[in-house]
Amino acid sequence: MTSTDFTQLPLKPELLQNLESLGYHRMTPIQALSLPPVLAGKDVIGQGKTGSGKTAAFGLGILNRLDVSFWRVQALVLCPTRELADQVTKSLRTLARTQHNVKVLTLCGGMPFGPQVGSLEHGAHIIVGTPGRVEEHVRKGKLDLGHLRLLVLDEADRMLDMGFQPSLEAILEHVPAQRQTLLFSATYPKHIEQLAQRVMQQPVMARVAATE
Ligand code: ADP
Ligand code: MG
Repeated sequence: MTSTDFTQLPLKPELLQNLESLGYHRMTPIQALSLPPVLAGKDVIGQGKTGSGKTAAFGLGILNRLDVSFWRVQALVLCPTRELADQVTKSLRTLARTQHNVKVLTLCGGMPFGPQVGSLEHGAHIIVGTPGRVEEHVRKGKLDLGHLRLLVLDEADRMLDMGFQPSLEAILEHVPAQRQTLLFSATYPKHIEQLAQRVMQQPVMARVAATE
């Protein structure tokens, strides 16, 4: 049987404390399936419907691995829209509130480019953004992904539906081959499976069947 108790996980004590204060008493099914391999550093494909708790599944994976004293971008979360990126940033900041000085920066299209460059110059541990804008920063040499440990493709099905595949490919050329890749999606069509095969290494499947 899969345990749903967060305290069974190898999480930093400050993260466990925070989960308790947030009222996260038990893992959701997708968290119970995905967090053990995520925290073990494996590549994971997480599939579950909207509202099933996928953000904390990858968010805890990021925060548990983060070295706050290392002032480089260590994790990149790609999302299909600005609204989703803003939500993920907010959730990450909430999950990180017991860890000191974790810097999460959002880089989305539809926002002025210059101020984002200014923010990047101040440094960040985690970038959350949309593929087009992140790719532009990488291409123009404003964002260094050379120290990335963890890449998250959130709502991967929607990113591909929105035509972001070329931007994803371009970004992938700038991230270390040696990294952990997490892919989350509400659905798992053939083109997502093909993407996963190309960008992930022996991914563990964490799928919660849709009931609707
Ligand atoms: P998804 O990305 O799968 O659509 P979210 O990660 O946005 O879902 O989570 C949906 C809601 O569930 C959020 O409000 C989040 O705070 C809450 N949540 C996530 N995990 C837990 C948990 N283990 N216990 C209680 N609430 C949770
Ligand atoms: Mg989500």
